[in-house]
This record gives sequence, C-alpha cells and structure tokens, in this order.
Amino acid sequence: MSDNCIFCKIVAGEIPARVVYQDDLVVAFEDLNPQAPHHLLLVPRKHIRTTLDLTTADNELIGHIYQVAGKIAHDLGFAEDGFRVVNNCNEGAGQSVWHIHFHLLGGRDLTWPPG
Ligand code: IMP
Repeated sequence: MSDNCIFCKIVAGEIPARVVYQDDLVVAFEDLNPQAPHHLLLVPRKHIRTTLDLTTADNELIGHIYQVAGKIAHDLGFAEDGFRVVNNCNEGAGQSVWHIHFHLLGGRDLTWPPG
C-alpha cells in the first residue's frame, strides 16, 4: 500500500466504493464520474504507479485483469454489444490517479479514435 493513494485506500476498504468484483489480485468498482452507462475501474491490489512500471513479474496479473474485464462485461450483460478496456499512461494521456487502473466502458456506441 502506498501512502495517500486513493485506489490503495479503496482496495483496503478505507474509502467506500461500489465494488462489483474482487479477488486476490484485483478490485473492480464503479467510476465516480462515468463516461458510459457502464464504467468500471479495474485496479490491482498491488500498488503499481503506471504502465511504465510494470515488470515481467506482473504479466500474469495483467492477463488476469483482462480476463476479469471480459467476465464483468459478460456478467453485467454488455459484452455482446461491445466494450472497451482503456489504460491512460501519464498526464498527456489523461492519467490522474497514480495507481495503475483499467477503465472498462460499455453500454453505448464507442467511437474511434478516442479523444
Ligand atoms: P484516469 O484519469 O485514467 O487516471 O482515471 C481515473 C479515474 O478515477 C477517473 O475516471 C475518475 O473519475 C476516477 N476516480 C477518481 N477517484 C475515484 C473514487 O474515489 N472512486 C471512483 N472513481 C474515482
């Protein structure tokens, strides 16, 4: 756990969140400022700052997170209509929380390219 990290605090249950899924590796909860009818954040329990801080030791974790994203989309009923998994890395891409996370968006038409 990293001091003053809001996602570490959510993972630890110190800050409330609408959790939709959790296991030993990952916690998924509703984004406070949803950009789609379904907008979840998938956050590893382990504090990793950005995509650039991943190592080969995290390969299984990241693969697991993608599998969980698909399972959540399926279980919540929006997988078949299409969904998107997004990771913003660094400020220029819109990263605002410095604990790696994956946005799972669905429930509406998602345009391409993203802004
Ligand atoms: P980023 O901009 O890619 O880093 O995404 C951070 C996301 O975290 C944004 O979509 C915020 O709306 C969301 N967020 C920030 N604080 C909280 C919170 O306490 N609960 C749920 N979502 C949050």
